[in-house]
Amino acid sequence: MGQTFYLGADIGGTTVKLAVLQEDGTIVEKWEIPTNTEEQGKSIPSDIAKAIDDKLGDLQIEKNNLAGIGAGAPGFVDTKTGYIHEAVNIGWKDFAFGERLSELTSLPVWVDNDANLAALGENWLGAGEGCSELIAVTLGTGVGGGIIANGNVLNGANGTAAELGHVTVVPDGGAPCNCGKTGCLETEASATGIVRKAKEVVEHYPESSLHKTMASGQLTAKDVFEAVEAGDTAAGQVLKDVSDVLGMAIANMAIAINPEKIVIGGGVSQAGRLLLNPLEVAYRKYALRRTAEASSFDLAELGNDAGVIGGCYLVKKNR
Ligand SMILES: [Zn+2]
Repeated sequence: MGQTFYLGADIGGTTVKLAVLQEDGTIVEKWEIPTNTEEQGKSIPSDIAKAIDDKLGDLQIEKNNLAGIGAGAPGFVDTKTGYIHEAVNIGWKDFAFGERLSELTSLPVWVDNDANLAALGENWLGAGEGCSELIAVTLGTGVGGGIIANGNVLNGANGTAAELGHVTVVPDGGAPCNCGKTGCLETEASATGIVRKAKEVVEHYPESSLHKTMASGQLTAKDVFEAVEAGDTAAGQVLKDVSDVLGMAIANMAIAINPEKIVIGGGVSQAGRLLLNPLEVAYRKYALRRTAEASSFDLAELGNDAGVIGGCYLVKKNR
């Protein structure tokens, strides 16, 4: 009997991030392999299995010292079986991923969606460390959510619990969302949503610096935050609108689990306090006062490692 190790795998549309961790969460090694999405991503399990075998060889870790693999993918996951109903970016549809990876590696495998894994990572070693009740929001090209309640990540009846990006915030209308609905939070508060919103608002502010940025090429969410910092009124209005709708959605969600911490991660969170301050103001405006009193906001701490660390924690909690 040697030391116990954990393997985390965070499968994205372009790369699969992998990491080996010790029992106490120390990262022994992390690396990535390209995601081969050809033929509906069917070679991904064998690519991962090979990458693990090669790395264990390099690290001189025996496979039977690995407690298991915790893997995440963006999509709808049956966490009991590791079955993926659909993961659009990867190409999987009705794919028995967990079973396949387990066969190929002879290791137990647990699977969850990527936002839940990020929440678990932050809950173990990041900004939400040790929180029994936690809401984690990932603001990137989409909006992901993960909820920890009673110390466990919520999955729901068919894997859609905590899909915060698809809370409806514009009734009867709003922009179309990738999920097939309209008016989802994701269409308003993701990086893409912020840019869409900025283009709308700027129409009414011909003197805004964002006009020039738009004319010179592509407008990004980062441009909007930079314009806010420079005192641009239109950009300030965009940030206020985005914070308001996001704060309201989080406040409504907070009623369900009464969180002690709300952790904001993803590319958009790089705006830091510039985003967090108005967001917290909006949250406190919409939340039940007693609910708001119990909760504080923090930026995610684990960055791109949240998923692989969460994967290892998934194994640690379930083994
Ligand atoms: Zn949606």
